[in-house]
Amino acid sequence: MSSQTTTRFAPSPTGFIHVGNLRTALMNYLIARKAGGTFILRIDDTDPERSKEEYVDGIKQDLEWLGLHWDRVERQSERLDQYHAAADALRENGRFYEAFETPTELDLKRKKQLNMGKPPVYDRAALSLSDDEKTALRSARGDGVWRFKLDHARIEWADGILGDISIDAASVSDPVLIRGDGQILYTLASVVDDTEMGVTHVVRGSDHVTNTATQIQIMKALGHDHPSFAHHSLLTGPQGEALSKRLGTLALRDLRAQGIEPFALLSLMARLGSSDPVELRNDMATLIEGFDIDHFGSAPTKFDVADLFPLTGRYLSQLPYEDVADRITGLGVPEAIGPQFWGVARENIQTLGDLESWWALCRDGAEPIIEEDDTAFIAQAMDLLPDMPFDESTWGAWTAAVKEATGRKGRGLFRPLRLALTGQEHGPEMAALMPLLQVIKAKG
Ligand code: GLU
Repeated sequence: MSSQTTTRFAPSPTGFIHVGNLRTALMNYLIARKAGGTFILRIDDTDPERSKEEYVDGIKQDLEWLGLHWDRVERQSERLDQYHAAADALRENGRFYEAFETPTELDLKRKKQLNMGKPPVYDRAALSLSDDEKTALRSARGDGVWRFKLDHARIEWADGILGDISIDAASVSDPVLIRGDGQILYTLASVVDDTEMGVTHVVRGSDHVTNTATQIQIMKALGHDHPSFAHHSLLTGPQGEALSKRLGTLALRDLRAQGIEPFALLSLMARLGSSDPVELRNDMATLIEGFDIDHFGSAPTKFDVADLFPLTGRYLSQLPYEDVADRITGLGVPEAIGPQFWGVARENIQTLGDLESWWALCRDGAEPIIEEDDTAFIAQAMDLLPDMPFDESTWGAWTAAVKEATGRKGRGLFRPLRLALTGQEHGPEMAALMPLLQVIKAKG
C-alpha cells in the first residue's frame, strides 16, 4: 500500500450509522491512514425519496465524534452526468438492455424457476424483443429498466478477507442499473465512482459479495481495472443471533447518549473478528499502527454491546482531571475538591454518567446497609466516628479505634463499615473517600 491508497466509506443517508457500518467505516479509514493515503466520505444519495439531509448531517457528526476525519466528501446526487455517460458507454458496447417486466411478472418467473428446481436468475427474455415490441411496451408501460448484460464466465478475485473467490456469472441475474423512472441505482454509481475517484481498496460487508462480482464485470466493460476487494463478516449478537434487525438500536448516537466513549468503540471494532486481541487504545496513531486487515477472518463476528462499558470505564480511569473538570463541576462538585473527587471516583465508573451517583453519595450520604448481626457493632462504631470534617487519616484512625473497642478485624471489621457508610459492597478506597463524605446517615 502507498500514498496512492484511496478508500471510501459510502453510506446511504437513509438512517444513522450503527455499529455495523462503523466497522466498515473504520476499516476503510485505518487502511487509508496507515498507507498515508486518502479516505473519502461518499454519500450514496441517488435515491431522492429515501435520502435525507438530516442523515447526511448525522453521519458526519458521528464520524467526527469518533475522530474518523475524511479527506473529502463526494455526493452521488451531484454526479448524475457521469453515471449517464457510463450508461451510454455500456449501451454503445452492447452490454446494456432495456427490460419491461413488471415486479409481479418477475416474481412469477422466479417462482416457476424455483418450482422446477432452477436458480431464480433473470431469463433475459427482454434480449429477444424486437424494436417494435419495445416501442409497444414502452408506450403501454413507460420506460423499462436497464440491465447490464453479464458475460457468462466465472468472475474471480483474491478477496482481502475471504481469500480466492470464484462466482459463476450465469448464477446471477443481469443487474438492473437504472430504474424505469430513470433513477440511477447504487451498482452503476458505485462502479463509476470507484473507478473515477481512483479507489484502490474497497472494504465492505460480506452481504456485498455478489454485487462485487457484477461490479468487476461492469468496470471491465467500461475499460477499467477493479480495486482490491475485502468483505468483512457481518456482526451477530452475543449468542450468534442475526443482528440486522437490532442494528437500529445500536446507532452510534444512542451509544453516545449512553456514555460510551469513542476510543472504547474504536478499540473494540478495530480488533473484533481478527486474530489480534482487543486492546484499549487512547490515541488514533496507535490504533492505526496496530491494524492489519490480513488478520481478519470470515467467520461471523459476535458483538456484545455490554463489552463497551468496561472498556469505556478503563478509558475514563486514565483521563487527567482537566479532561473531566467541566463535567465534574457541572454536577455541583466544588472546584476545590474536584480533583480529589475524580481521584476517588475514576476507578469506580463505567461511564461519566456514573459520577452523578458517587457525588450524590458524598453530598447526601448513602442509605446505609446494616446486616442484622451488625446492628450493635455499627452503633458502637458510629459512637467512635470523629466529627466532620474528615481527612485522609480519619479512616485509619477510626477503624483502629473500632477494632480496639470491638475486637473485630479484617473483613468482619471493614465490610460492615463500608456498607454502613456507602450502602455498597465495593467502591473507592475508604481512606480517600472519607474526606469527601458530607453526610453519614448511619449516624442516625
Ligand atoms: N451505499 C452502499 C451501502 O451502504 C455502499 C456499499 C459499498 O461500500 O459499496 O451498502
